[in-house]
Amino acid sequence: MKKIVILGSTGSIGRSALQIAEAFPDQYKIVGLSAGRNVDLLCAQIEQFRPKVVAVSDTAGYAVLKAARRGKKSPRILVGSDGICEVAAESSADIVLSAIVGSAGLMPTLSAVRAGKAVALANKEALVIAGDVVMAEVRKYGGALLPVDSEHSALFQCMHGWTRDGIRRLILTASGGPFRGRKRSALRDVTAKDALRHPNWTMGKKITIDSATLMNKGLEVIEACHLFGMPLERISVLIHPQSIVHSIVEYVDGSYLAQMSRPDMRGPIALALSYPERLPGAVEPLRLEQLASLSFEQPDTKTFPCLDLAYQSMATGGTLPAVMNAANEIAVHAFLEGRIRFTDIPRIISRVMSVHAVLPASTIGVVMESDRWARFRAQEELTA
Ligand code: MG
Repeated sequence: MKKIVILGSTGSIGRSALQIAEAFPDQYKIVGLSAGRNVDLLCAQIEQFRPKVVAVSDTAGYAVLKAARRGKKSPRILVGSDGICEVAAESSADIVLSAIVGSAGLMPTLSAVRAGKAVALANKEALVIAGDVVMAEVRKYGGALLPVDSEHSALFQCMHGWTRDGIRRLILTASGGPFRGRKRSALRDVTAKDALRHPNWTMGKKITIDSATLMNKGLEVIEACHLFGMPLERISVLIHPQSIVHSIVEYVDGSYLAQMSRPDMRGPIALALSYPERLPGAVEPLRLEQLASLSFEQPDTKTFPCLDLAYQSMATGGTLPAVMNAANEIAVHAFLEGRIRFTDIPRIISRVMSVHAVLPASTIGVVMESDRWARFRAQEELTA
């Protein structure tokens, strides 16, 4: 029986993970949960899964949860970033699923890493903004990172058992999102509703917009650099509209290993939780004979400049990826609120990156300060 903590339990990844725990009750016990604002759903999850400890991000949610649980002994209820970090380090947990969206996931992820846990990582931003520090702490505390991002899960599976010397290149696949094939002029007036209509994947709002801009793939390129210790120039991206091949490892002998499955996040979540075993029926099998085609094409980075911005930030390194990520979070939020155009997202990120004085990303303090600076600077751009 594996004991699991889920950080971000009310989000898309968290709910899928709980479906898996529900389907395999003799294999998984939920010992801790954390959530943001959706306290009603968290309450329902507490009733169903009976964790030892939970945390909510703000005091308003804490008050609601305390009232709802009045007179009940468990779970222990914590609040704020410190509370979430305490849940992340819960002593009885074997594995911590880090599924908080955005840079808010960094400190809880680090907390789990410093407690020596196996961390199933869905929060890619932790590696984007502080990859060097996080990976150094993983080595120091003897834990492990298991990728939950579908592309990284695919690469992890395709690299298994082979020495790194044999790898020529990692190829991340991208669906291309809802606007694939459009030209820049056709993107000026697209709305958040248009952008949220992802052709293949059901995901949270932030990542769905990131998929539409290709920033998600940019973040994933940086994530792959850190996770697999691979230099930036050996990671490339191909658009694969069917989302069946989740990524590819190219070897020096001309072999390509690819991982295929239906586009269903329960696959990579289940694999991270069950590793090195596999969970029967985690995802419905493919009907290969019914797949009309699998196609691959180069990304259109003129129309979708965010991918290049991500490459540029990682090529420079230091605090620039953190700044790019923070500016993106602010811009995506503003776009979802209808305050800016879709095409303003890369413009704002590029502007904030260009005025940042890059520092070495040697400590969490430096990175978080750059994150704060970039958020402030991006807010100024919104109103400029
Ligand atoms: Mg992904």
